[in-house]
Amino acid sequence: MTFTDLWRDLEPLGRDPATGGYRRYSWTPADAQCRAWFTRQAEKRGLTVHPDANGNLWAWWGEPGPGAVATGSHLDSVPDGGGFDGALGVVTALAAVDLLQEQNFYPERPMVLVTFTEEEGARFGLPCLGSRLLTGAVDPEVARALTDDAGVTLAEAMTAAGLDPALIAPDPARLDDLGAFVELHVEQGRALAPMGSAIGIAEGIWPHGRWRLDFTGQADHAGTAGLGDRRDPMLAYAGTVLQARHAAASRHALATFGKVIAEPGATNAVCSAVRAWLDARAPDEITLSRTVTDIRSTAKRLSVEHGVTLSVRQESYSPVVRFDEDLRDRIAVVLAVAGMPAPVLATGAGHDAGVLAARLPAAMLFVRNPTGVSHSPAEHASLADCEAGVRALVLVLRDLAGSA
Ligand SMILES: [Zn+2]
Repeated sequence: MTFTDLWRDLEPLGRDPATGGYRRYSWTPADAQCRAWFTRQAEKRGLTVHPDANGNLWAWWGEPGPGAVATGSHLDSVPDGGGFDGALGVVTALAAVDLLQEQNFYPERPMVLVTFTEEEGARFGLPCLGSRLLTGAVDPEVARALTDDAGVTLAEAMTAAGLDPALIAPDPARLDDLGAFVELHVEQGRALAPMGSAIGIAEGIWPHGRWRLDFTGQADHAGTAGLGDRRDPMLAYAGTVLQARHAAASRHALATFGKVIAEPGATNAVCSAVRAWLDARAPDEITLSRTVTDIRSTAKRLSVEHGVTLSVRQESYSPVVRFDEDLRDRIAVVLAVAGMPAPVLATGAGHDAGVLAARLPAAMLFVRNPTGVSHSPAEHASLADCEAGVRALVLVLRDLAGSA
């Protein structure tokens, strides 16, 4: 099957017809369709699919065993996300297997395709949940109690999908079997286009985290409550958003309030509470910490000023990732020798490969995104570049899995 056929097959699953964006949230019917699709495609190629207890899917080419070369990504999406984030890595992995099988290649080392669950954290708030559970970077008890916006816990959602949440646990034996993990991903940002390169290699991932800020004031009538009598949490929130922009800009960091809930959410009432989520990232951990401290102290000061109470909770934190240099150099040489030179790029986006990098040699390939837009239906990569991604992955897998 060609890349195009695979892509067309997956494309309609979980897409919202009104926005054209994807809503592939973990443990929903759309997610189940994506899982079934992956399982079907893997089995068609003679791979054996083993779901793990944490919700990740593993499709083995050959017997599971030590020194395995793993590739893949994720199939879940952010709300109204693009079609390439995650899916590109899974589809190219399947297309790479096709090409390798056509070339009569048989891996000397075991090869395994993986799709991680809840990479975006779009439903339960914790990104890279599947890989974090696998490596033990999150406590299973904490994970089971995570809730979505409707108050459904992860444990309930997994039970409804037919899994036993009591089995969630770190999986060191599985990790011990992995010799390397290579994740191909659509570029998020726009570095490759001006360089004229279709493929890039990741150098590392900026440290990043998520914080939830709850501003609590008092609901009141928009037509009768005097301005001086109000305890309006929206004002403290709004000032915090502006300061977040300033705090990030002055440090070459990034800070984003992309999700906010105003309660009770009436046009003609002062809010009783504003719940907002801060996403912050920076080139290094000290800069990230200073940026967040700056934003928090502004939120505190403005809350006092407006008679509002503030609570801040860190929901996730991912330290800086530097990918394995030997693996990165090896991939760079393989691609350069094949006439596909790939520049090395840093990124502000988190990935499962970043979580796995703490435990085993991991690397990432990026496929050029001409506009740089991601986490939006406008996210794009050309067919020619996606096919270049398949060829690059084939070269890398041949090299890594071709000798025992
Ligand atoms: Zn992704």
